[in-house]
Amino acid sequence: MAKFDYDLFVIGGGSGGVRAARVAASLGKRVAIAEEYRFGGTCVIRGCVPKKLFVYASQFPEHFEDAAGYGWTVPEASFNWSTLIANKDREIARLEGLYQAGVEKNGGVTFKSRATLVDAHSVRIETDGRIVTADQILIATGGRPHTHPALPGHEFCIYSDGVFDLPELPKSIAIAGGGYIAVEFANVFHGLGVETHLVYRGKEILGRFDMDLRRHLHETMVAKGVNIHCENIFEQIEKTDDGRLRAHMKEGQPLVVDQVLLAIGRTPNTENLGLEAVGVEKGKLGDIAVDEFSRTSIDNIWAIGDVTNRVQLTPVAIHEAMCFIETVFKNNPTKPDLDEVATAVFSQPEIGTVGLSEDEAAKRFTHLEIYRAEFRPMRNTLAGRNERSLMKLVVDGSTRRVLGAHILGPDAGEMAQLLGIAVKARLTKDDFDRTMAVHPTAAEELVTMYAPTYLVRDGQRVS
Ligand code: NDP
Repeated sequence: MAKFDYDLFVIGGGSGGVRAARVAASLGKRVAIAEEYRFGGTCVIRGCVPKKLFVYASQFPEHFEDAAGYGWTVPEASFNWSTLIANKDREIARLEGLYQAGVEKNGGVTFKSRATLVDAHSVRIETDGRIVTADQILIATGGRPHTHPALPGHEFCIYSDGVFDLPELPKSIAIAGGGYIAVEFANVFHGLGVETHLVYRGKEILGRFDMDLRRHLHETMVAKGVNIHCENIFEQIEKTDDGRLRAHMKEGQPLVVDQVLLAIGRTPNTENLGLEAVGVEKGKLGDIAVDEFSRTSIDNIWAIGDVTNRVQLTPVAIHEAMCFIETVFKNNPTKPDLDEVATAVFSQPEIGTVGLSEDEAAKRFTHLEIYRAEFRPMRNTLAGRNERSLMKLVVDGSTRRVLGAHILGPDAGEMAQLLGIAVKARLTKDDFDRTMAVHPTAAEELVTMYAPTYLVRDGQRVS
């Protein structure tokens, strides 16, 4: 008889956990996975997927406007928030079903329950108190939005999770933060016709991205009508007599709005999991500490995804799951490779980026060539839209290797995926130059920037 009930028990049914459970089950392992809320986790249920559906919804007003230049007369359009929410809910429920079924079809067992560690090989299924045992345990419990208890009136604020179920579209919103979530939602709400304020404590939105893109996006958002308040912070949120919110900031007049959204980072879900009892060590931010192979301080307990606070992105969690499978079930120890992770911000216009920003590259390389193209995408010409795209390649002047590729403009995320291959493969600018352009596209700029726009030597820009 087997020593344990399962070969693998996974706690958390998000992107990483489900992938690990499904693939392990497909290898013939005896697998169980527990999810306390809904299979699919943050990405599917209250993150990337519904967010992208909202992004699409918010882009239609501009499409309607642009259509006029192409000869179309579009009757006055109206928007129904409840329809969007209901359709989004249906799609999310469909995906949730697929996630759960994917594990079960491969022979895995699913529990709709919270699960907590009892000892290194035992897990309690909290809905019925049953204890099951497993040879290996994988923790993939993800994260949740940071709350902000120090902010007086924080109890009146909403978080990204709540946006997807707001009973009605607010007429005005103030958003705290300058990261992915704050910027994406600022564009979504503005696109849906909501008076939108973005309040960011730093000098420029989207720290960690290339400064050129950050500035350019900021200017474009302001030109569209988003109110961006940099180097500012909320000091107090209070309810007004008519049920709205007055958001007091360090600088300037208070904002009176219908909703205040706090998008100030995410916290790993590590509380009340039994980690302390079993001796699983945590990092400084409450994350689960893991080694390069995703192993925790306990030999047979592993952790992947946002709960480990490495790179908080869905594809990273999935990659970590696949590496875990290689290491644990295929006798092929594999470290997740978290270098040159391509990523997109679904702002409007979109950002797609991979590799080093100019500033980061300048710290590590003495001689850089910067290739930069700024242009109006063809679609915007007849539309009469003045929005401009930006493409930028950061190249090591000594080896000609493309260190970073950065795009702001329509479909930048799609382009970043393909550029990710080129940058990961350590291709050189000469490889880009040898590649035939696809015409007429915006992406052809990436292979037709023959001369550097400027050079950076020892951190200093030279023309
Ligand atoms: P981010 O880490 O991207 O941004 C957090 C923002 O909040 C920063 O601008 C930060 O400022 C600011 N901030 C932090 N603490 C405070 C505070 N006390 N008061 C005011 N501002 C504060 O987190 P997000 O919440 O936007 O997103 C979480 C993660 O989810 C991201 O890191 C990303 O990996 C992932 N994500 C990915 C998406 C995608 O791939 N498109 C979309 C959405 C989320 P500062 O810059 O000064 O630190």
